[in-house]
Amino acid sequence: MSGRDHLILIGAPGAGKGTQADRLVEKHGFKHISTGNLLRAEISKGSELGNSVKELLAQGKLVSDDIVADLILANVDLENEAYIFDGFPRTRHQAEILEEKILKGRKVKAIYFNVQTDQLVDRLTNRRTCGECGEIFNLITKPLNSDGTCTQCHSDNIVQRKDDTEEVIRDRMQVFSKEISPILEYYKGKGCLKEIDGSLGMEEIYKEVVQEI
Ligand code: AMP
Repeated sequence: MSGRDHLILIGAPGAGKGTQADRLVEKHGFKHISTGNLLRAEISKGSELGNSVKELLAQGKLVSDDIVADLILANVDLENEAYIFDGFPRTRHQAEILEEKILKGRKVKAIYFNVQTDQLVDRLTNRRTCGECGEIFNLITKPLNSDGTCTQCHSDNIVQRKDDTEEVIRDRMQVFSKEISPILEYYKGKGCLKEIDGSLGMEEIYKEVVQEI
């Protein structure tokens, strides 16, 4: 048993969940499970599952609850590791699935990064990812090297996610706004919700997150 509570990072696309998760993995030994990353990996592999969800991801629409729940179950070892769930749950129903079929009574803490939509659109249109090592950049606040390469591994394979265009971002925000209140109510009701002002800098947010683990 890892003995630690699992963490659920809740926030709109671009709220900083992935960035905070990377640091918690590096400094506190959590395992990061991102349903978006798992789905994108299936699409890159060209698997049957990947092909069946490709269009939904391109449009910013939600994949079925069963598909994401099965993907998580296939990729966790809850007995031995403490996990950070990123991008799941995205609906109240998924929160119930997480509790009943995945965690089965294991303890969690939910952390909500609250950020205004305009700031999120700005962040997402400037987001780039290194296709080699996965480092996440922001062209303004966390730039690439001056020659456009990754600051970590120096690769020039820098990619922009297909769903990080303004039109798809607005659709993803709408999906998020519709589903967020019931999720927050669910975890508030369980007494395990912490809200953080996600417009703060990366360091300040990280300090607040660390107090919760
Ligand atoms: P993300 O990387 O978390 O922004 O997710 C990218 C896309 O993957 C979303 O816009 C959805 O199409 C899909 N996705 C990720 N997580 C879930 C989930 N928990 N439920 C349904 N669809 C998801």
